[in-house]
Amino acid sequence: MSLLEEAKQLIHLHKFSPKRGLGQNFAVDMTILRRMISFASVDKEDVVLEIGAGLGFLTRLLCEECKQVIAIEIDSRLVEILRSQLRGLENVDLIEGDALRIDIPLFDKVVSTPPYSISSSMLFWLLGKPFSCAVLTFQREFAKRLTAHVGDKDYGRLTISAYYRADVELLTDVSRKTFYPSPDVESTIVRLKPRAPPFHVENEFLFFSLLRTLFMQPNKKVRNAIIPFLRNLGVERDDAMNRVNSLLLYNRRVRQLTPEDFGDLANEFA
Ligand code: SAH
Repeated sequence: MSLLEEAKQLIHLHKFSPKRGLGQNFAVDMTILRRMISFASVDKEDVVLEIGAGLGFLTRLLCEECKQVIAIEIDSRLVEILRSQLRGLENVDLIEGDALRIDIPLFDKVVSTPPYSISSSMLFWLLGKPFSCAVLTFQREFAKRLTAHVGDKDYGRLTISAYYRADVELLTDVSRKTFYPSPDVESTIVRLKPRAPPFHVENEFLFFSLLRTLFMQPNKKVRNAIIPFLRNLGVERDDAMNRVNSLLLYNRRVRQLTPEDFGDLANEFA
């Protein structure tokens, strides 16, 4: 039986209706699932995290290839289905809950097709964790934001945060037909490998809050966009203006600054 037939059967049998809001589009293409696992070079030493286990098709394959799978699923109806789907598999730890809010045991790789609605928060969450490799299927527009070039409309806080912490590769495009039910958007498989930051940042908290503030107004000149950041730091308005006028980058537009420029700026105030 194909995965598509199996998905339809499970959904019918359990009278389950997939919820769009939770991104319940299940990957039903065996070739794509196998490629994701091989892109992550998963082997018998690995503990692999899966965020949003759905009907468990990827979970099942991962169990064959790695030491342990930690499968998280938020929807209790699906957790019920997963329990029966994964029965007899000894190397899976199925956890019900919101992946971004619960405590998750240590893992070293991530292979998932997470719901698109949490792509951004999940990525920021993941970049703060120790792991060696993540292979994730994202909405194509989101994937492009991760590797956008300086000045592009997609270039922003996400691009710079990802670049600061990881090597990011867009590996292959995935058609919406890979999923059942099909979503309205195309997808791309992305690989992230954490690495040492490519430039020096004195105070990461300042760096990330600078990014957040400046990218609220990406088309503004630095001298204007940076004022709220300085005021937040408790700098008086006049002092803030003086500081800004002495910045080398003050006349450039936020979107035109390289990640390294943001590092320099943050270091000015560290
Ligand atoms: N990987 C599976 C399922 C993908 S659909 C497959 O390819 O078949 C995405 C899944 O994530 C859904 O099952 C949805 O219920 C689940 N999900 C949505 N938000 C979640 C969250 N915050 N934490 C954990 N799981 C979540």
